Amino acid sequence: MKTILEEIESVLDSGTADVSPEIRYIFRSDTTRFTGTPDIVVNVRTEKEVAAVVKIASANGIAVIARGAGTGMSGGAVPLKGGIVLNFEKMNRIIGIDRRKRIAYVEPGVVTDRLREEADRLGLYYPPDPSSSAVSTIGGNFAENAGGLHCVKYGVTSRYVKGFRFVDSAGGINSCGVYAPEDSFPGSFVMIGSEGTLGIVTEIALELLDRPPLEETFVTYHADLLNAVNTVIKIKSSGVDPSVIELIDKDALSAAVQYSKIDLPENTGAVLIIKLDSYFLPALLERSILLENIISLMKVIKYRKAESEAEKKSFWDMRKAVSSAIKRISNDKLNEDITVPVSNMHSFIEFTRALSEKFALRIIVYGHAGDGNLHVNILFDRNNSTETNNARLASEEVFKKAVELGGNISGEHGIGLSKKNFMSIQYSKNEIAFMKKIKKAFDPDNIFNPDKIFNITMG
Ligand SMILES: Cc1cc2nc3c(=O)[nH]c(=O)nc-3n(C[C@H](O)[C@H](O)[C@H](O)COP(=O)(O)OP(=O)(O)OC[C@H]3O[C@@H](n4cnc5c(N)ncnc54)[C@H](O)[C@@H]3O)c2cc1C
Repeated sequence: MKTILEEIESVLDSGTADVSPEIRYIFRSDTTRFTGTPDIVVNVRTEKEVAAVVKIASANGIAVIARGAGTGMSGGAVPLKGGIVLNFEKMNRIIGIDRRKRIAYVEPGVVTDRLREEADRLGLYYPPDPSSSAVSTIGGNFAENAGGLHCVKYGVTSRYVKGFRFVDSAGGINSCGVYAPEDSFPGSFVMIGSEGTLGIVTEIALELLDRPPLEETFVTYHADLLNAVNTVIKIKSSGVDPSVIELIDKDALSAAVQYSKIDLPENTGAVLIIKLDSYFLPALLERSILLENIISLMKVIKYRKAESEAEKKSFWDMRKAVSSAIKRISNDKLNEDITVPVSNMHSFIEFTRALSEKFALRIIVYGHAGDGNLHVNILFDRNNSTETNNARLASEEVFKKAVELGGNISGEHGIGLSKKNFMSIQYSKNEIAFMKKIKKAFDPDNIFNPDKIFNITMG
């Protein structure tokens, strides 16, 4: 009788299956602390191969975990209890870009920036830009419904999905949206953001926009956080329509300053980086003037409009320095991606300061302020059990506060393994029961990414 590996190898054309301890070790984690060693890693190359492997897994009750680049921040690609990891790295063709319809047809393993660059070459624009876009894949972005810097104006991944093809839990191939006048699986679009738990996406059609040719980038230095947050609120209600508003508060700045050449005016309590873009020069000038008026009205310490590409880059370098600087000042951290309404951002950040005192832990907040999506970094020493425990307690309080203020426990990183124990903070029993019904309708035997989002009993 054939082993599972032999069965899988017999259905692969150009793909490969690997059971070597080294490869299984590499595929045991993403960026989180969760680990689980896969039994087999299958490097798929075609939709037909994906369907055939899922069919074998389904017949044998083996878990199937799809994996893009493994940049996930909630444990989505971790094969917690083993199973088959479908590695999409080599299924990475941009099948075509229809310039007239402004649609790109891509395989899931395409790296996000590759699509953005290809679109750019044609004068087109694919806006979703997670900070991981140099590495992350479109399949992973689809599964996590990824956001990013430009999402305050352009929306998240789901806004651009015009259709897709996917393999269901019986190994059948399905199409929806632009791929099929009538969806072959009703309600398929619920798969966007379902973290690989409902099906395996094998091709995605993504809407592209015309690339806005004009842009201006500003940095504003504020005496305190309240002033920065009030500036965000004013900008959002003014018609300035920025494509990016990033907030870096004083603790995040002080971390970044230690490790990069950032020149900050004295007494800076918070910084905003704001980008405007436009198709028409008069519109850009008008919005730029409006923004400068708001900035002066808000009595910021200082602001700069970038005069050159180099200066623009220096603003973004400051933003990028934050994440790596935080990594260097502590041997561990919990990075929670909550959201709160912009009007409640200040109360939320004040709350994190009180929390920092309560648990004697450093908590650093920064993020996509334009849409209230904040990254709360709780730093702790992993060799100190009290700190480790306190960090967990603090993160639970962070989720509770975010929901109390009208927000969400996850803005963009997903639930996966990291937040599954906190789902009840945001969702009622009925809501969770309904999500489980959807899971059972798509995947009655629970083979796709089991253990993620919630535990489920089948039957
Ligand atoms: C430095 C850094 C910055 C980040 N910044 C952002 C940000 O700004 N915004 C944001 O939203 N996220 C951000 N992330 C998180 C992460 O990059 C995103 O969630 C991204 O979409 C994951 O893509 P991936 O290819 O790495 O997916 P993986 O980590 O490999 O997988 C993520 C999930 O997608 C599923 N999946 C992958 N391929 C498929 C498929 N073909 N079919 C079905 N399911 C599939 C997996 O099973 C898993 O559940 C960041 C991460 C890092 C490390």
